[in-house]
Amino acid sequence: MSRFQSERLATLTPYTPGEQPRDMQYVKLNTNESPFPPSEMAQRLAAEAAERLQLYSDPTCRTLVDKLAEVYGVDPDEVIVTNGSDEVLDFAFQAFCDKNTPAVFADITYGFYPVFAARNGIPFETIPLGDDFSIDITAYFGAGKTIFIANPNAPTGLALSRDEIEQILINNPDNVVVIDEAYVDFGGESCVPLIKKYDNLLVTQTFSKSRSLAGGRLGFGIGNRSLIADLHTIRYSTNPYNVNSMTAAAGYGVLCDEAYTRRNCLTIMENRAWTALELTRRGFTLTDSKTNFIFAKHPSLDGGMLYAKLKARGVLVRHFTAHRICEYNRITIGTREQMQTFLDAVDQIMKEVL
Ligand code: PMP
Repeated sequence: MSRFQSERLATLTPYTPGEQPRDMQYVKLNTNESPFPPSEMAQRLAAEAAERLQLYSDPTCRTLVDKLAEVYGVDPDEVIVTNGSDEVLDFAFQAFCDKNTPAVFADITYGFYPVFAARNGIPFETIPLGDDFSIDITAYFGAGKTIFIANPNAPTGLALSRDEIEQILINNPDNVVVIDEAYVDFGGESCVPLIKKYDNLLVTQTFSKSRSLAGGRLGFGIGNRSLIADLHTIRYSTNPYNVNSMTAAAGYGVLCDEAYTRRNCLTIMENRAWTALELTRRGFTLTDSKTNFIFAKHPSLDGGMLYAKLKARGVLVRHFTAHRICEYNRITIGTREQMQTFLDAVDQIMKEVL
């Protein structure tokens, strides 16, 4: 900390991203990336865009936004693109929350929400998940606050149906409801079709998971055009060039090959089902994940110990220390080979400690 640090910063606890160690080659199942490379067209268009890097990127990202609008069946002015979906979420906190309209979200959810709130000086409240990590939708009715729901939720993997989200929207007509669909392509039900019906709905998604572009940093929001206009006000007051030209080109390329994305998602879902079965056979309990990760615990294996022993064997998973979830580990679903390596390591550890 410098002696010049502002008071605001002194009380801020930043978000802790998943570790990216360089000390050895890990089977990396800790940050929910795709194990598959970006589509060939994405790679080619990004390389071509690199030849024109002397120019600023298009602040409207017109080509990409039009393509997103086409793929999702909405109008271009109902879409905003951002530097990862973290940025559109941050913009939503800034645009739709203040001292009079605090934020509300689950006690166990994406760990960046409280950080966005704190950094923007926004008060927030949390609503506890049930013992089985379920979301009681009625607890959000008439919230009088800006609601943030990761659907499917992270790190639990559980999803609400579109009908359930619609009930939350109906019961909060005067508040914005942000549905963070970072993991929706792995078996969830998207709320994008509801944006024409509810002017208080903002849906956010990312290219980081199903679209193999985590390093490109590309996210987007879809919602009523007046909500999107508010987000653009924040964007143009922060960084109009928030999406660089290589990433915009790569994102366009990804969207031109929807079959590749769909195939990869299906493979991940198959690998998820197989890994879940294998873990269940070994005595693990799992949530019904609709994401590209599973959330698992074992009655006789300490969560932190399992994480550490897996890491020592070159397999990285994510362990959270919060008390309600510290028995669990979050394991990203990779290729079948990666999951086999993970299971082999689990078997060795079980033989060693049980
Ligand atoms: N929402 C959720 C629930 C996430 O887990 C993540 C990934 N850390 C994000 C949003 C942000 O992802 P990105 O900024 O890479 O789009």
